[in-house]
Amino acid sequence: MSDFKSKLEKIRAVVPEHVKIIAVSKTKPIEVLSEAYAAGQRIFGENKVQELVSKYPLLEGDTEWHMIGHLQTNKVKMIAPFISMIHAVDSLKLLDKIQNEASKVNRKIPCLIQAHIAKEETKFGFSPDEVYSLFQDLRTEDYPNVVFSGLMGMASFTDDEELVLEEFGILKELFDRIKSEILSDYDPFVELSMGMTSDFHLAIQKGSTMIRIGTLLFGGR
Ligand SMILES: *Cc1c(COP(=O)(O)O)cnc(C)c1O
Repeated sequence: MSDFKSKLEKIRAVVPEHVKIIAVSKTKPIEVLSEAYAAGQRIFGENKVQELVSKYPLLEGDTEWHMIGHLQTNKVKMIAPFISMIHAVDSLKLLDKIQNEASKVNRKIPCLIQAHIAKEETKFGFSPDEVYSLFQDLRTEDYPNVVFSGLMGMASFTDDEELVLEEFGILKELFDRIKSEILSDYDPFVELSMGMTSDFHLAIQKGSTMIRIGTLLFGGR
């Protein structure tokens, strides 16, 4: 059995069946992705547009490519024709741009709105309150080429498991409130992308549906 496959099976064994595993392959050469593909992996996460654009033609057409990093508006058009999900929608300007570029290529692009839940300062993203207001104020019909698939977030990078659990809990609660209070008639809002190598087991406890795993599958970068 390949190294990748045994690592994947170890993770699968501790993760509920409905949770999707995004193999975060950023910085890894295509041979490494091909090995993962051969082992059955179909969802790959990258955080740079240039890398996505150069890698996507090299794997089979049933591969799902997920953009997991900060996305600049001027680069949306480069990935709009093929991207399967954009995880880190962190501004209204970006959302508008995705609508515009997706419409040009006649696609509906699944998107997650990123909420920052970590105590650390960051220049990108919405606070949980801002995400709630965003959904209160927008009409999904105004974004016919965007699928509002759910939310994404990253917890603080710390050994303090209580803090990490609290932060993931805030995201889960936000997700549940938006789903029940605002999007109760909107079926596609189902995904909660949270958890990476160091904290996926905690994210799962709090209801994650997508974990983004790099180091544990592919080794250090
Ligand atoms: C790199 C990255 C990951 C994967 O991190 P690991 O710790 O290597 O599992 C997950 N999410 C995002 C947004 C990333 O940039």
